[in-house]
Amino acid sequence: MRFATDATLGKLGRHLRTAGFDTLCQHQNRCGDFFNTIDGQRIILTRTMAVRQKFKHRHLLFIRDNDPLRQMMQVVRELGVQPNDLRPFSRCIACNTAIAPLDRDEARGRVPDYVWQRHRAFHRCDSCRRIYWAGSHRQRMGKRLDAIFK
Ligand SMILES: [Zn+2]
Repeated sequence: MRFATDATLGKLGRHLRTAGFDTLCQHQNRCGDFFNTIDGQRIILTRTMAVRQKFKHRHLLFIRDNDPLRQMMQVVRELGVQPNDLRPFSRCIACNTAIAPLDRDEARGRVPDYVWQRHRAFHRCDSCRRIYWAGSHRQRMGKRLDAIFK
């Protein structure tokens, strides 16, 4: 399952990437005709009536809620997402690229020292060069993802 979110759903887009879903976000694309440039297999997520109307023949889900976590719940329920569909923390939240393990030695000097000392496992994004590690943010997001399936 792959997604494209409209400009009002940036946080939902980040949640979907955190869960491992390939998600393009309109606000990161300068192209004015964003939804026309993406492939037809992507599910359009929108809160905008004009987008819903314009792309009514495409696979599209109209998001009702204002809260990003409730939006995520709507996606899970209405599109039948299963826990097995998730690949948590496998994708760069900033740029959507799949992240790869990074040797702990190579992470040294590329993350703050206190982070390097406290953590064993690191991942890197080859596209935007961000480094990821399992911190408190990750634990929080993991709990939120678990809660969605309860
Ligand atoms: Zn990245």
